[in-house]
Amino acid sequence: MGVEQSGKPGAGTKLVVRNIGLLLSGDLARPILDADTVVAVDGRIAAIGKEKDVDCSAATTVIDANGTALTPGLIDSHVHPVVGDWTPRQNQIGWIDSCVHGGVTTMISAGEVHTPGRPKDVVGLKALAITAQRAFAGLRPSGVKVHAGAPVIEPGMVEEDFRSLAEAGVKLLGEVGLGSVKDGAMARQMVCWARKHGMQSTIHTGGPSIPGSNLIDKDVVLAADTDVIGHINGGHTALADTQIRALCEQSSRALEIVHNGNERAALFTLRMAKELGQLPRVILGTDAPAGSGVQPLGILRVIAALASLGEVPAEVAFCFATGNTARMRGLDCGLIEVGRAADFVFQDAAQHSAGKTLLESVRLGDLPGVGMVVIDGVVRCERSRNTPPAGRVPTIKHLAV
Ligand SMILES: [Zn+2]
Repeated sequence: MGVEQSGKPGAGTKLVVRNIGLLLSGDLARPILDADTVVAVDGRIAAIGKEKDVDCSAATTVIDANGTALTPGLIDSHVHPVVGDWTPRQNQIGWIDSCVHGGVTTMISAGEVHTPGRPKDVVGLKALAITAQRAFAGLRPSGVKVHAGAPVIEPGMVEEDFRSLAEAGVKLLGEVGLGSVKDGAMARQMVCWARKHGMQSTIHTGGPSIPGSNLIDKDVVLAADTDVIGHINGGHTALADTQIRALCEQSSRALEIVHNGNERAALFTLRMAKELGQLPRVILGTDAPAGSGVQPLGILRVIAALASLGEVPAEVAFCFATGNTARMRGLDCGLIEVGRAADFVFQDAAQHSAGKTLLESVRLGDLPGVGMVVIDGVVRCERSRNTPPAGRVPTIKHLAV
């Protein structure tokens, strides 16, 4: 089933990746690195450089990239997991495993809101958050690092609730606005308590996503001042451009663009961020599972859409889903940098794309072909079953045990 316990997946391994054709760093300041080799020890990046300059000895596994591009593993900043690799939203099993085949190696919960019979009383919502945090810390579906345990705030919560949640290991708040707290001042107070105790917050921006959810407009978003402006392009109904502009201009928080949102509003947000010199704030998510389903290629699709229609270079669009999110979210992955988690996606232009290279094909709006995914230095899938076939794919050589 592609589900396994966590522990230390890459412990005792030395992975050498050689013959990389294009190395994308995930870092907006320097999106392309001049290197063809990456070494990972115990699941962490240990060296990056030209093969002749890097210690490639005593490898346990060698991957010949065969000239393909290597990028950091993609991060989905906005998912709604429930338990294991099952979602009741579309009654689907294996949705996270499908996303690995779309290059996703890390997911961040915006609330376990699809849990059947989800408790809304304070004791119950805290218990659910702690359970979700524990469950996904103990189980990585197909190796994916799911950061879960994101309670949805309700009236009546006091600072002690946030302190005790944080002490129990809960590091996130679910989307503000999905519960009964819709008042900006009350939301701000709780977001402040959460922040004080080291918990990150996000908010549902825009019209209701399904019957029973609510409109959250820019005044509530600005008042709540969450760390992430969740799905700024709507979930799926977007705010008016004037409101999105106000959020870009008047807040300094992350601008999260999601696949399950309004595409035109996504492009408008990107244009605003560019004009304001605020591209480091742009992060990507899917908001899956959702009414429009699960999109295993959702993050790649947003990257291709922004690169082809939003007039940003493809290598920059990849940064939105990797280094930007890692920095905004305080994660140890998302960048090809010594010390970071060895989470890699090998990609190439899809067969018969009009674009001759990965970057050219993405700029033309084509999805890349994923040839391999590595999480914590361990190969999790080879040629993707979901992307169009990559022109070239890496090959693996196992050496010592
Ligand atoms: Zn939402």
